[in-house]
Amino acid sequence: MYLYNSLSHKKELFKPNSENIVKMYTCGPTVYHYAHIGNLRTYIMEDVLEKALRYNGYHVKRVMNITDVGHLASDADTGEDKMVKGAKRENKSVMDIAKYYTDAFFADCDKLNIKRPDVVEPATNCINEYIKIVSGLLDKGYAYLAGGNVYFDTSKLEKYYVFNDHDEDDLAVGVREGVEQDLNKRNKNDFVLWFTKSKFEDQALKWDSPWGVGYPGWHIECSGISMKHLGEDLDIHCGGIDNAFPHHTNEIAQSESYLGHKWCNYWFHVHHLNTDSGKMSKSKGEFLTVSLLEQKGYDPMVYRLFCLQSHYRRNLVFSWENLDNAAAAYEKLIAKIATLKADGDVDEAVFAQLKDRFTKALDGDLNTSVAVTAVYDVLKAKTNDATKLAALADFDQVLSLNLISAAEKVRKQQELEQEANADPEIDALVSARTEAKKAKNFAEADRIRDELKARGIEIIDTPQGAKWRKV
Ligand code: AMP
Ligand code: ZN
Repeated sequence: MYLYNSLSHKKELFKPNSENIVKMYTCGPTVYHYAHIGNLRTYIMEDVLEKALRYNGYHVKRVMNITDVGHLASDADTGEDKMVKGAKRENKSVMDIAKYYTDAFFADCDKLNIKRPDVVEPATNCINEYIKIVSGLLDKGYAYLAGGNVYFDTSKLEKYYVFNDHDEDDLAVGVREGVEQDLNKRNKNDFVLWFTKSKFEDQALKWDSPWGVGYPGWHIECSGISMKHLGEDLDIHCGGIDNAFPHHTNEIAQSESYLGHKWCNYWFHVHHLNTDSGKMSKSKGEFLTVSLLEQKGYDPMVYRLFCLQSHYRRNLVFSWENLDNAAAAYEKLIAKIATLKADGDVDEAVFAQLKDRFTKALDGDLNTSVAVTAVYDVLKAKTNDATKLAALADFDQVLSLNLISAAEKVRKQQELEQEANADPEIDALVSARTEAKKAKNFAEADRIRDELKARGIEIIDTPQGAKWRKV
């Protein structure tokens, strides 16, 4: 499998350190609010990556953190902790906020068929790991104490900007939005490993440490959690592109200085979902969540398809019109699959050809739009339905678009409608009940329902109106 590696700026053949197991780490959500659909684009594409690796025969151990402490309002070392801000906003405790939004995050993931990582670890669970790494960095001279905080000393590194695709001047302290100058820092990009002093003294969660009572910086979380569960080396680390700097840059700096060797071989970054007016964010414009899409009548699978239709290394522009196009495409696709009937044996040769196209798309830097095209190729293929259904079920292990189950539902619905159309007398009674309900004559509506029940007919209220079936 070829994957673009942000570290080398090239597509590289993916080769894990050990033959069969891929150690994968993904930065998880900061649980101070709902995830917006931009965040979820990143999690969908990481989910596809994990499933593509499994599809290729690898065992994957995937770890994700839950950031419930230490992520400040800026991505650097200034501002209030996002969790404390969220707790104040809702008049709840930080732990209540963390629990509520962690559950909400996984509920969204379930709706989008995003598999739960093998290990999910809240940052507040691993304080000892961070203390161990920070102590190690101090011992080795990579960190210093100033004004009550422990800082990482970036001047000790040969190369700090490992992803080096940004303009250093833009990143200078005081220039980047939301970053204020911290006079304790020896170098402008030094970052906090452990806080005991901050302007925001009402930090809710604090722990004892060799440097005083305090709390960890955001970056140390991911290094600590990754090392706890995956050891000293990592095959692939994922996140949204905004995490490349400073978050991932700092993770690499502290991990490799602490370990004394290379830490992670491949870096996978998902580009942003934008709106017409720029980057999607939780504070700007309409806050787009999966629940909002559902309220507006969209199946979450439509959003998943919308994401899969474009490459993860391209910015994707969200608009309702674009989503409507995805909705129409999904409905058509499922309707077409619903017409297939499992008739006879799978033609193994054709199946292998179809699978080959699909695999090549995934192996070419996770080209999901071509992988989706491979689904249409199946439908057009000159072969029997059994082969088509087998190929679609196979591809859906990675795409997770409910290709088979959604088609099954459509077919059942159609059968229901056919049955309903077959008896004019029952139809007339069902219509009479609908009219009675409209006229708020509920007694009459109930009487008709009971009459039908006595005749072995069950009424089913659907968004398309009342249907019936024999029970
Ligand atoms: P957060 O919960 O803010 O820590 O972000 C969770 C994930 O979403 C991170 O991997 C971010 O890089 C990613 N992310 C943030 N904004 C966007 C966006 N507009 N589009 C895609 N991914 C995003
Ligand atoms: Zn992280």
